[in-house]
Amino acid sequence: MAIGVILLPMLANYHTHSEFCDGRISAAEMAEAAYAAGFAVLGFSSHAPLPFQTEWTMEPDKLADYVRTIRALGEAYHGRMEILLGLEIDYIDGLCGPSDGRFDRLGLDYVIGAIHHVRPPRLGDDALATVDDGQDSFDALISQGYDNNTSALVEDYYKAATACIKAGGFDIFGHFDLIRKNNPNMSRFREDTVHYKAAAMSTVDALTGTDIIVEINTGGMARGKLSTPYPAAWILKELKLRNVDICLNSDAHASAHLLAYRDAGLQAAAEAGYDSLTIITAKGRERVPLE
Ligand SMILES: [Zn+2]
Ligand SMILES: [Zn+2]
Repeated sequence: MAIGVILLPMLANYHTHSEFCDGRISAAEMAEAAYAAGFAVLGFSSHAPLPFQTEWTMEPDKLADYVRTIRALGEAYHGRMEILLGLEIDYIDGLCGPSDGRFDRLGLDYVIGAIHHVRPPRLGDDALATVDDGQDSFDALISQGYDNNTSALVEDYYKAATACIKAGGFDIFGHFDLIRKNNPNMSRFREDTVHYKAAAMSTVDALTGTDIIVEINTGGMARGKLSTPYPAAWILKELKLRNVDICLNSDAHASAHLLAYRDAGLQAAAEAGYDSLTIITAKGRERVPLE
């Protein structure tokens, strides 16, 4: 009797951290784990250095070693698994972004553009705060940075996201609605209001007609923060209606994240009406059927 075989799309992940930034294992260990798990393509995307010090971005003097290490891994796995060199580059309004060319000389295979920061109005003109730290710091951001005006926080986040997309200079838009990470059960702000949806839709509209790929990112699920991937199901449906391409990334900081909640990501894609994922290889982009 024939056994039915479900052909899942080839395993590819473009959102991978390592000890070069805030990942927990070395790039070599991550590559080994991905190869053992059957990945065909593994893209490294360390947090690019920012114009200021953080605990989670790569230090500028590690860049050359990063490039050398990932390229050497690419050679070591040649013919078995494709390894790509990327960076996750922050967009911060008025300060830096993927389009400013700071990393062009590295010959990256691709770039993830991402928003982690907002500019809390109550903390002064130069103040920046991240939205994806722990719950306590997110709550402090709401109370001290925004005087409990979560509508303004949501607006600032999506304004930055929209500006990031309009500035361009990257291939994949990372964790579309990261602002949801510290909003368990919509306890800090509603995500089903006209205001929230309009803010998020400005980012959807900016993506329309670009060649930017939006990632389905299961990282928030792997950290136990969310029960659904980024972006939320309704956003993914709006993206599909506008023919925006998607890929599926785990935002892995440890080897156990590589395949974590992949099924949920595939299901989210299918439920939004997608029948393919877009993959990037050294040869370029390609759409692979979902099944
Ligand atoms: Zn990120
Ligand atoms: Zn990341």
